[in-house]
Amino acid sequence: MTSQLTNELRFATRALLRDNWLCQSSLRKLRRNEQLDSEQLDRMQARYLHKTLQTAIARLPFYSHISPAFSVDEARDVLHTLFPIITKETLLANPATLYPHGGARRPWEAAGKTSGTTGTPLVIYRSIESLLLENAFVKRHWTWAGYEDGMPRATLRGDMVVGLERKEPPFWFWNRYNQQLLLSSRHLTSAHVGAIIDRLESLSPPIMQAYPSTAFTLATYLARSKRQLRIPHVFTASEPLYPHQRELILERLGLRIMDMYGMAERVAFATQCEHGEMHINPDYSYVEIVDEQGRRTDDYGYVVGTTFHNQAMPLVRYRLSDRTRWKPGRCACGRSFPMIESVTGKYEDSITGSNAAVVSPSVLTFAFKGVEHIRRSQVAQVGPARWEVRLVPFPEFSAADQNKLVDNIHTLVDPHVDVKVVLATELPDTAAGKFRWVVNETAQHTAAAESPH
Ligand SMILES: [Zn+2]
Repeated sequence: MTSQLTNELRFATRALLRDNWLCQSSLRKLRRNEQLDSEQLDRMQARYLHKTLQTAIARLPFYSHISPAFSVDEARDVLHTLFPIITKETLLANPATLYPHGGARRPWEAAGKTSGTTGTPLVIYRSIESLLLENAFVKRHWTWAGYEDGMPRATLRGDMVVGLERKEPPFWFWNRYNQQLLLSSRHLTSAHVGAIIDRLESLSPPIMQAYPSTAFTLATYLARSKRQLRIPHVFTASEPLYPHQRELILERLGLRIMDMYGMAERVAFATQCEHGEMHINPDYSYVEIVDEQGRRTDDYGYVVGTTFHNQAMPLVRYRLSDRTRWKPGRCACGRSFPMIESVTGKYEDSITGSNAAVVSPSVLTFAFKGVEHIRRSQVAQVGPARWEVRLVPFPEFSAADQNKLVDNIHTLVDPHVDVKVVLATELPDTAAGKFRWVVNETAQHTAAAESPH
């Protein structure tokens, strides 16, 4: 179902639903929030929080024992003292009390699915309002790059744009309703990438949306063909953005990267500003960072979020497996939105070295220093102190490249870890078309990630 006509219908409908006057008016309101100071933002948060908690108590039996008799000013305290931290497992274990109407979705509520990198996927009911607002939040981020409706943009994500069997251009679809060039990331191959680069060059869009992995693959091909695109802003989202990806994307594809952090559960949203800082959007949700015991911390911890806008299924103090830390101080961009360190990835995707400590993905990138002729890579933990480095090589890849890679790991990353290099013709994406560069496949680790801490 990827014919031209299907695409036309799909994008006309999408434009009608999402890019209407309602969204425009939401966007204008959201843009005004950027001018508020911390105190005004605190008050706004208290009002939203009060509304969400009242809805949760009224609609979800899980919270029916909590008294709704508290004021806007008391909402934050009530949240911290009376509402427990919940996780995906809590939702899966309590469908009758944590889902509205005992788990029976109403026809007008949309169902969002988590991509489920590990374990069971999760369904979240979403209100129409939250769907429209989500779009407005994304668009507000684009305005940070000077983008306005009507400007062209390119999109290189997981969308099935044209059939996989297609061997001749176009490997894209021009969505005239949004001036959007949708590129097929499945056609980022030696045979077809040239046509994609040519098309991007002729459009020269002011912004491009991509996954870090798809932007990185495109940049890899640009480097191979000694070409360069200079897209002013590349918006990345949906996967962790690793330093080696950032470096090559900036060298070959875009002048600036604007990363975005969000998730299907919609309990936190952070956007990178013109000055490179990741800002939590305080009008999107209420975000906490907690340690293993669920206590709020200024150190690294898990992201916990409470929805403001999805009253169809109010998620309260929902803990994600993403880890980050608050960053104190003020940003030069002038916004009072709080800052966080970049989110380096999910706990279940972290791998450990020979001393059983987690190895940062930034350190892991040293393994690839000076190693050439790799189209795609993945580092997997397959046992205690045992890693498998999977590579999709270009034809020029040699034993010398392979030895250099293993040498790098033992000299720059971990001297005692057992490394096996596996050459493959392709590395699979997840069902959502995303790619996980670091994976942990040891059963013990996955089980620990699944159980609440
Ligand atoms: Zn900023």
